[in-house]
Amino acid sequence: MTLTADISATAFVEKAPLERYVAPDKPSLVGLTRAQLAALLGAIGVPQGQRKMRVQQLWHWIYFRGLTSFDAMTSISKELRAALSERFTLERPEVVAEQVSVDGTRKWLLRLPGETQGERPHEVECVYIPDTDRGTLCVSSQVGCTLTCSFCHTGTQRLVRNLTADEIVGQVMMARDRLGDWPGAVRPSDGVIPTGDRCITNIVMMGMGEPLYNLDAVRDALLIVADGDGIAISKRRITLSTSGVVPNIERAGAEIGCMLAVSLHAVRDELRNELVPLNRKYPIGQLLDACRNYPGVSNAKRITFEYVMLKGVNDSIDDAKALVRLLKGIPAKINLIPFNPWPGSRYECSDWEQIEKFSQVVFDAGYASPVRTPRGRDILAACGQLKSATEKLSARERMALRAMAMTD
Ligand code: SAH
Ligand code: SF4
Repeated sequence: MTLTADISATAFVEKAPLERYVAPDKPSLVGLTRAQLAALLGAIGVPQGQRKMRVQQLWHWIYFRGLTSFDAMTSISKELRAALSERFTLERPEVVAEQVSVDGTRKWLLRLPGETQGERPHEVECVYIPDTDRGTLCVSSQVGCTLTCSFCHTGTQRLVRNLTADEIVGQVMMARDRLGDWPGAVRPSDGVIPTGDRCITNIVMMGMGEPLYNLDAVRDALLIVADGDGIAISKRRITLSTSGVVPNIERAGAEIGCMLAVSLHAVRDELRNELVPLNRKYPIGQLLDACRNYPGVSNAKRITFEYVMLKGVNDSIDDAKALVRLLKGIPAKINLIPFNPWPGSRYECSDWEQIEKFSQVVFDAGYASPVRTPRGRDILAACGQLKSATEKLSARERMALRAMAMTD
């Protein structure tokens, strides 16, 4: 590599966040923690002695029942309901588009406020992937991403801003609204919905953005989502995916305690520097040490290592052997993700035969079903072979594929 190339690559390890969030005039209570709700109640004159009970009631209506207006909160006095609706809303992020695919995958495009009023708003995606006995929601943590992984479309976007906790929880609330996933609500008649009593059983932080660069908001949001008196999706069914922000891995384990996925994608620093430029800051050795020390890691709570299959780049049998050697001793799962091309991307997805050979090495080393099939395979069939079809599919299927790979 030439010196110039080196400098420019280093300079683009991270972009500076460009955008700032401007709160709406009338804020939504969706996404607030118990402590924040208690403080707001205090500010509107609810006496200290009543706050805990009022918070509990609000929590139930907002997060267990999914109400979108204060009127129906029958356990709360009329006066307090009026005071709340004067100052607050229960709004979720605005849905600008919904797509439902034949297999039941749903994608929502959400519009979020930007830095200045009247400026072009930001858009993020949220994807729902149903299966027979579970449903996974793929949630975004940032608009764009400050990192610049060379195979990732999000990394090419210029605008970046952290989502607030309420925008992260809001994605789950919006999806539950759309899926009729509240007690007594009506399920949609189109598309596949899992058979159990909940439509959304799993959450993966694998949408846009690097969740460990927005740790406080992601933590607050996931603790709300996991709270047993509300949405109640267990921490074992919530997976946070990181490109390897080493200093925040331990914090994520200690403060959230959800499952961890690590975007490894390469077994040598030289190649990982190119694919995941953050590796220049936190190389593979440091990353794996952080994984070994991830709070709560055990054979019952394994770390998932994601590995995107890039033709001729990281998909050799030697790479597969090096991968299993590298992860030896770490309680791990391995997910091979077929690369999903996007217009202008410089990589191709590995051939299916090569993915199978690679996955056989991983399987022989004792890792169960490293690639998702058969549903993944339908989409894989398009990978690299039907290029135009893939490009059409890519926006919708990109996150679907990733999330599917995550939910064995
Ligand atoms: N920033 C986090 C989470 C969001 S990306 C992270 O990088 O882990 C979620 C996963 O999708 C990551 O493993 C990422 O490497 C992978 N990914 C990104 N672009 C992809 C593409 N075009 N094809 C397949 N996987 C991709
Ligand atoms: Fe950001 Fe993850 Fe994409 Fe890398 S793969 S640019 S960290 S969203």
